[in-house]
Amino acid sequence: MAEKKDVYETLGISKNASQDEIKQAYRKMAKKYHPDLNHEPGAAEKFKEVQEAYDILSDTNKKARYDQFGWPGVDPQAGGFGGQGFGGQDFDGAGFSDLGDIFASFFGGGARQRQSSSAGPVRGEDIYSQLRITFMESVKGVIKVIPLSYYRKCSNCRGTGAQTPRDFETCPRCNGIGRIRYTQQTLLGAMTSERTCPECNGVGKKIKVRCTTCNGAGYERIKENYELRIPQGINNGRQLRLQGKGNPGKLGGECGDLYIEIQVESSTTFKREGNNIRIELPISPLDAILGATVDVPTVYGIEKLNIPIGVQNGDVLKIKNKGFKVINSDSFGDELITLIIKTPTSLSKEEKAMYEVLRQSELKGKNRPTEAYTDKVKKLYKL
Ligand SMILES: [Zn+2]
Ligand SMILES: [Zn+2]
Repeated sequence: MAEKKDVYETLGISKNASQDEIKQAYRKMAKKYHPDLNHEPGAAEKFKEVQEAYDILSDTNKKARYDQFGWPGVDPQAGGFGGQGFGGQDFDGAGFSDLGDIFASFFGGGARQRQSSSAGPVRGEDIYSQLRITFMESVKGVIKVIPLSYYRKCSNCRGTGAQTPRDFETCPRCNGIGRIRYTQQTLLGAMTSERTCPECNGVGKKIKVRCTTCNGAGYERIKENYELRIPQGINNGRQLRLQGKGNPGKLGGECGDLYIEIQVESSTTFKREGNNIRIELPISPLDAILGATVDVPTVYGIEKLNIPIGVQNGDVLKIKNKGFKVINSDSFGDELITLIIKTPTSLSKEEKAMYEVLRQSELKGKNRPTEAYTDKVKKLYKL
């Protein structure tokens, strides 16, 4: 298919023309080539072109699409692409309007200053990394100084690499499409495929005058020792997002983000359960029988704990607000204390004698739980 003429050229206006100027130009050109008034050869053809150009430029949606992609943006059949492997999501209305918005903001002036181009700016890729912290750092929060190397848009060209927004031209090799068709001979005959235009790397545009600040690179490398603030109470696996510190964009596109996944080392003493912290506290049988006040470790220091009379092995006591800080809140979880009754494995002669006295009293008072249990089971199963 023959290449179609640029619509701005057809109407004899600049790409910055306002809707009023477009309308005026259309009236003028339509009058000039109207088949009733102009009988010169080719006038009817010209009139058709003028109509078509005005159809595109008077429709903001179509105009924006044309400004981005040229003819294939408004007519996927144009330029002989036939929609094969193309004309898909790139030209889909919804996807496009996003690109258009970004493009408009990058030129700072909306559609009026928009340049004829194919591809819009491309956002840089996100980067993922991991950072290990200790259990106590996750409890108390920490500031980690990490050496970062990332990119920032050049302040002069805002990432485009061109000295001014007008210093672009449509790539002559791919005509702004960013992709080129080529024919290959295969066993099955000639096959036509597409690939990224090597001239513009798929961007569809070439820089005419390089930005003098960044020499056309568009993005400058920044190295800094970044102070990463890790909040108090952070959970294992939580990702922190550092906006704009990922890979650089292309043609004024935003830089990607850097995600840092926090890996919290486990503790042998303290176990995280939601925002609570659990510990296992060994106590003596005497403390379990008589009750006691004991010292207990918490992540914030040693605390006094009252063990009531007659606790059982596995009972759980609680110290309020000694757990993790709840993120985005002023409240804290609790420390949960599982009591583990530790029976002494070696006794002095004196101790042994005293325990024996206690046992005799237990037997006399029929307080030993074993007898009652055995009696119950004997009756139940008729043993
Ligand atoms: Zn190209
Ligand atoms: Zn620059």
